[in-house]
Amino acid sequence: AATVIEARDLKTHFQGRSGIVSALLGAKPPVARALDGVDLCIKERRIVGLVGESGCGKSTLGMSLVRMHQPTSGQLLYRGEDITQIEGKRLKDYRREAQIIFQDPYSSLNPRLTIGQIVEEPLLIHGIGNAAERRQKVARALDLVRIPPADNIDRFPSDLSGGQRQRVAIARALVLEPKFIVADEPVSMLDVSIQASVLELLDELSQKLGLAVLYISHDIATVGYICDHVAVMYLGRIVEEGAADDVLTSPLHPYTRHLMAAIPRVSDDKKTELPELSGDVPSPMNVPPGCRFAPRCPYATELCHRIEPELIAGQSGQGVRCHIYGSEDSGLPRPQLGQI
Ligand code: SF4
Ligand code: MG
Repeated sequence: AATVIEARDLKTHFQGRSGIVSALLGAKPPVARALDGVDLCIKERRIVGLVGESGCGKSTLGMSLVRMHQPTSGQLLYRGEDITQIEGKRLKDYRREAQIIFQDPYSSLNPRLTIGQIVEEPLLIHGIGNAAERRQKVARALDLVRIPPADNIDRFPSDLSGGQRQRVAIARALVLEPKFIVADEPVSMLDVSIQASVLELLDELSQKLGLAVLYISHDIATVGYICDHVAVMYLGRIVEEGAADDVLTSPLHPYTRHLMAAIPRVSDDKKTELPELSGDVPSPMNVPPGCRFAPRCPYATELCHRIEPELIAGQSGQGVRCHIYGSEDSGLPRPQLGQI
């Protein structure tokens, strides 16, 4: 399959809030290294899951990939074309091809517009088609998400359930016929009973329309449903990645293991909390030296606090950024959970 989007050592840094104050004082302004050197590749008809706790840079990566954020350095390729620095008309054209769906189907739809108007709006913004053509495109997009157009175009978001609203948000993204979609926590505000159906819809659309999808979730459990490939992010970098089957059944990085251990094993109504790790996710304005996970990692050694591990990959393609796995050259060792 053809590569749709590729990031190479992508960084998106932000000036910290006290930047102006420090500038006045002549100090070096603080910089938030929200996205700090990410390599990622998504092909047609593939869904890549991006997991990690909130504050790890997942949304910054998503917004950088669709160029809602301007990357600070590194490279972003869209179907082989370098789009890292594009602006003006080229950026507007790219924004048509790359869409983002947000978490909250309640606040992301304008309550004063009808469903038909909401889905038509992107076409108007991009100056696409006449009224009849737009009507046709809107109907097609709503059909794709199984919201019967005839019964729904004149309704308002408040007439719909959360699941239906998120389908409308997906239709609004699809109406521009994109090739790449970032779905940022698209089901985390929906009732558990309908989460699977929305994810299955995304999977079906990816196949049918040839879409490359980045599915962002803090919940590693939902990623197994639809993702071919999983990347685990911690403090602005990918610390583990690989085929979903490998990463979810034999997670290597201590952080991934921590996320896996948090998957509820009882019933839906009794969601277990994350087991305690020492400390919080550090601020991206204060990235620790060495391995970023070291301050919280139960296995950290002196080396970990000094030197950041490279991402090394075993034969299966599963890659991990952790010193525990660096020593053997013939593929990755797989210590038992208790061993590391
Ligand atoms: Fe833990 Fe060291 Fe591995 Fe980082 S490199 S995850 S601190 S063991
Ligand atoms: Mg987020």
